[in-house]
Amino acid sequence: MTDADVSRAVPSSRAATDGPEKGRPAWTPERRQEAHEQVQDLYRRHLQLPDADVDRVYDARRGYVPLAEAPSVRDLFGLSLETVEGEELGAGDTDFPFALQSISKVFAYALALADHGREGVLKRVGVEPSGEAFSSLVFDEHNNRPFNPMVNAGALAATSLIKGKSSSEKLDRILSLLRLFAGNETLTADEKTFEAELQSADRNRAIAYLMRSEGMLDGDVEATLELYLHQCSVHVTSRDLARMGATLANGGVNPLTGQRALPGPMVRDVLTVMYTCGMYDFAGEWAFSVGVPAKSGVSGGVLVVVPGKGGVGLFSPGLDRFGNSVRGTRVCQELSLRLGAHLFATPDEDRFFSRT
Ligand code: GLN
Repeated sequence: MTDADVSRAVPSSRAATDGPEKGRPAWTPERRQEAHEQVQDLYRRHLQLPDADVDRVYDARRGYVPLAEAPSVRDLFGLSLETVEGEELGAGDTDFPFALQSISKVFAYALALADHGREGVLKRVGVEPSGEAFSSLVFDEHNNRPFNPMVNAGALAATSLIKGKSSSEKLDRILSLLRLFAGNETLTADEKTFEAELQSADRNRAIAYLMRSEGMLDGDVEATLELYLHQCSVHVTSRDLARMGATLANGGVNPLTGQRALPGPMVRDVLTVMYTCGMYDFAGEWAFSVGVPAKSGVSGGVLVVVPGKGGVGLFSPGLDRFGNSVRGTRVCQELSLRLGAHLFATPDEDRFFSRT
């Protein structure tokens, strides 16, 4: 996959010399130190997580398992932040790799938008919260399409729209987009995770065949399923997630590399759907109590975007009953309440991103 191919996929890709959209000055050393302490404090306050607060943990081969059966991931916790000025902060297991899982849905949707435009994608996948679990077999029957691209049915539909001459070219295009967003050329799918996902894909297979039978999905179902599971299996760290979030927060331009990953209007569409549908059937409560676009995955990752300000990447595998990271939700609720990151907070409430 060459840069020229990425440019073709994402029509208004700009050169590597593009700077951050806002061109804001870097933080002062004092502000950096203060922010570092704020992040350490946030991390420490959430280090304790009583086992009883965790509903389950996800294992690619076995599916959901009780926390007691997942001792190796029990205590993992990474918290990363990156601002649109390119300031990086973090605490805990920020370099621990884990599978993107459903967070990949954001980028499959982005690529479908780049390939077909807003109207083209809207014909095949809606933008309406479903109020159902992510693996639900419920569709928007009125419009004969999945409700939105953040649930499995919609993600399968979006994935089927990704252009490419072969499955490997399609996967390469997804990887190229993820790498642009993260500013990390090493991102790749973990084949062990992929194989495990493929072994336990009956429900997604059922969703995909049902959609094809209803005319919601075209083409080779098995190939679409494999592409979807491959993108779910891409390994990232919480640092990568924070950078991806910062790129979305920065109008589609990676604050570190200066490269454009996605045209601005498509970033807006992606963020809107993340805001209304990104946290599954907890999306309304998330919008209320956290108030910024986000997307979770069953590995325990959360990608958070504070538009115009920065990105947050979280990793903590203990999940709640919705399939969202328990710590992820708690840290973000606090980021919103104590540090004023909510979209509808007033500027003087922001005690983190806009402080200089
Ligand atoms: N691989 C998972 C699936 O599609 C991803 C689900 C998720 O992260 N919510 O079933």
